[in-house]
Amino acid sequence: MKSVEEHLASCLRGIEVLSPIELQLLDAQGCVLAEDIVASTDLPVFDNSSMDGYAVHSVDVASASPTNPVLLPVVGDIPAGSSAMQRLAPGTAVRIMTGAPLPAGADAVVQVELTDGGVAKVSINGAVPAGRHVRRGGDDVLRGDVVLTTGTRLGPRQIGLLAAIGRDRVLARPKPRVVVLSTGSELVEPGSSAAGGQIWDSNSFLITTAAREAGAVAFRIGIVPDEPKQLLDTIEDQLIRADLVVTTGGVSVGAYDVVKEVMSRLGTVEFDRISMQPGMPQGRGVIGPDRTPIFTLPGNPVSAYVSFEVFVRPVIRQLLGAKTIYRPEVRAASLTGFSSPAGKRQFARGALGVEDGRYVVTPLDGQGSHRVRDLAYANSLIVVPEDVTEVPEGGTVKVMVLERRLT
Ligand code: AMP
Ligand code: MG
Repeated sequence: MKSVEEHLASCLRGIEVLSPIELQLLDAQGCVLAEDIVASTDLPVFDNSSMDGYAVHSVDVASASPTNPVLLPVVGDIPAGSSAMQRLAPGTAVRIMTGAPLPAGADAVVQVELTDGGVAKVSINGAVPAGRHVRRGGDDVLRGDVVLTTGTRLGPRQIGLLAAIGRDRVLARPKPRVVVLSTGSELVEPGSSAAGGQIWDSNSFLITTAAREAGAVAFRIGIVPDEPKQLLDTIEDQLIRADLVVTTGGVSVGAYDVVKEVMSRLGTVEFDRISMQPGMPQGRGVIGPDRTPIFTLPGNPVSAYVSFEVFVRPVIRQLLGAKTIYRPEVRAASLTGFSSPAGKRQFARGALGVEDGRYVVTPLDGQGSHRVRDLAYANSLIVVPEDVTEVPEGGTVKVMVLERRLT
């Protein structure tokens, strides 16, 4: 049997970050930037008003008060989007809207609430200091600033900044495309009726969404029966759009476990027994003309999911160029005692929480690798080393955190 470390190392070997491509902003969400972004403009691009009101020379309104208002002629209107008007003469005001360019000469904006709202003349009943309600050009970004650096993961706020400086596309590493299929002649689609030994395919939904959560573009191909020819044809059809293929089921030693048989015809795939629970039978290798990486995960849903978390998620993260490829780990006190198999690393489903400022974890009862309800309640995996057979109540354990939301 191979250790988890040995298998993980062979999974990651030869996996290289995908080459950058030009992406439209909306397609770049979740991708890693592959260039430094230099602003070709100031932001704000021009001095503008942060209020609806009147642009003035502040000295003209220095004496204004409710009992002693200042009356100024209104020489025009500047809506947002209009190009700046000519210089504002001293002793005059111009109506200005939020975001509209400030005319030269004006140094402050009197908000409309401090005025009578006049159109030809305006009565101003409060003073404003120079600079009031004015957003200065370049106070946010200066032309030539490096606003984002290579390696930054592009989320909504970064994409908003790119658009604000006028960029419509960027050089970024694309998301890996992951093709997911379930093998098993017993499988039927959720939503259809399952009779006589049939079960609903859950793995491909579990793994497709887990791959998306890891940052991939995942395609659920769905169910392929345990027929070598059909499996072979399906995988060959899908290779064209895959950076990675993930299958579940068919890797045990049963008479209809066809995955092993088919892989030898597609490429080089090694099948190993890994000293872990769940997830002992694992296959990995490369197939097709482009030597596309493939992972063949065991069929039990919990085994498939744990295998994905331990081996496939780091591979997806590495393809993405992510800064961190592993899940965060914490140490926690186990709220109940439990036993663990000798010679295997156990990944027990856990409910992780915080009590009195320290992490505590409750192992979930049903640890059988077919039990999907406890998997759904888990927010973490408790990692019990190979040489530990008993975790006592209150004992310290290592916990892989799957979700930020703790119990
Ligand atoms: P296998 O590795 O193909 O022998 O499958 C092991 C167990 O997992 C069997 O009980 C299968 O019925 C079950 N299983 C396999 N694939 C799936 C799937 N896609 N969804 C749910 N259960 C599955
Ligand atoms: Mg099967």
